[in-house]
Amino acid sequence: MSAISERDLLESVPSTLFIGGEWRPASDGGTLTVLDPATGEPLKTIASATAEDAAAAMEAAATSFEEWAATPARERSDILRRAFDALEERAEEFALLMTLEMGKPLAESRGEVAYGNAFVRWFSEEAVRIQGRYGPSPEGNGRMIVSQHPVGPAYLITPWNFPLAMATRKIAPALAAGCTVIIKPAQQTPLTTLAWVRLLEEAGVPAGVVNVITTEASGEVSEAIMADDRLRKLSFTGSTPVGQMLMSQAAKGVLRTSMELGGNAPFVVFDDADLDKAVEGALAAKFRNIGQACTAANRFIVHSSIADEFAARVTERVTGMKIGRGTEPEVTIGPLIDDRAVAKASELVQDALGRGAELRTGGEAIEGAGTFFQPTVVANVQPGSEILREEIFGPVLAITRFDDEDEAVRLANDTEYGLVSYVYTEDLARGQRMIERLATGMMGLNMGVISNAAAPFGGWKQSGIGREGGAEGIHEYLQTKYTLTENPFA
Ligand code: NAD
Repeated sequence: MSAISERDLLESVPSTLFIGGEWRPASDGGTLTVLDPATGEPLKTIASATAEDAAAAMEAAATSFEEWAATPARERSDILRRAFDALEERAEEFALLMTLEMGKPLAESRGEVAYGNAFVRWFSEEAVRIQGRYGPSPEGNGRMIVSQHPVGPAYLITPWNFPLAMATRKIAPALAAGCTVIIKPAQQTPLTTLAWVRLLEEAGVPAGVVNVITTEASGEVSEAIMADDRLRKLSFTGSTPVGQMLMSQAAKGVLRTSMELGGNAPFVVFDDADLDKAVEGALAAKFRNIGQACTAANRFIVHSSIADEFAARVTERVTGMKIGRGTEPEVTIGPLIDDRAVAKASELVQDALGRGAELRTGGEAIEGAGTFFQPTVVANVQPGSEILREEIFGPVLAITRFDDEDEAVRLANDTEYGLVSYVYTEDLARGQRMIERLATGMMGLNMGVISNAAAPFGGWKQSGIGREGGAEGIHEYLQTKYTLTENPFA
């Protein structure tokens, strides 16, 4: 394991844009500074792209598309495989870099390196399995050919909460399919993307195939790219309001879109659940990533007969959690990403308490440097509380009660989101009924963490469109052509 210092690591990360195979500053010399959320101190200053830089990145992606699309799939696959191997070797550095800019505990960052890199391996394997079909028309008068083609240059926008995995699960399938890309990471956590794209360059990705624009001017930069009619695809992960706005921009060019948006996951615990399992699952589903995951359990919907015991058991565990900078040993709760996130967690807790919920532990922002919020449990949350409607995106576990299965289903589905649900029951038939009744794109059945590169990740309703990972993931970057040709025997 390399024991690189924080300073040397930050020094090694590129500080410029990557356009057409060149690392270069912003056209107006503009910069943005990335902060450590655990201290509020600056980590590194990097280029902040302008609309002009965005247009240059678009140009590079468009002009390199034809050649990349024609590159044999095996070559594209091999490049991804080399990138996978290189990241394995440097896993520790990437884990530290993510902890520095995003704040999560180092152990969780190591987990994200493994998870994020799994997409690179998975799509290096999928690249060589892009297939079509051939067969007679039903009338027998012709032959039908169905073939798959890369959709074209793609614009990828990622959020700050999983700095590596959100980038790899877009870039890897795009490259595997033969698409060129422009990626815009979130301005809070762009360093991991810059470091990883440098690694892709070293693995042999040709100039112009991957372009990175880091910027403080997301709106302007995105508009410049979206206005170019050579762009064929938008893949966005982030909040639902920004996703909706981008979808309306994408309508102009009739772009293919993949949208991974917000969530409001129900975590339903039936009275026949194994409570030990449910408590473990609850802690993982709630506190991973300091609660800042689209898959985070947002509403704990617990049968009345066990709600008090469940609350007592999770509270006991939560009060033992260690808060601190993610680099410190045994820390399980790092900082939230910024002041706004702390204010939001605080407001949601206050609203719930004001409507009759009971505070079991936590509930307060932590004074001093960094943006920390105490891990919190609120029980008996009453209907109408904001915390049941809004994505909390913080370490707050909110418990509400139900009395029968129909009520549990009604409460669980009472949201415009539909990303993931969690269900704890030992009754097999009930578990199967939940698969059919809960309106979410994913479900953990007696499991608190479900993400896997081999699975189609994505939501129903306002949680999104399209899937990332699995056999489905590469099809987001492919388009179908049907060709009719003559019957060769006629
Ligand atoms: P966000 O929507 O604020 O930002 C996401 C990205 O969009 C960032 O790169 C940001 O710079 C960019 N952006 C913001 N305004 C823009 C504009 N006008 N034009 C173009 N780009 C713009 O979200 P966030 O706070 O970074 O991330 C948290 C959100 O992401 C949560 O809602 C979470 O649920 C969601 N998320 C979803 C998934 C999923 O797979 N469904 C995964 C992770 C996060």
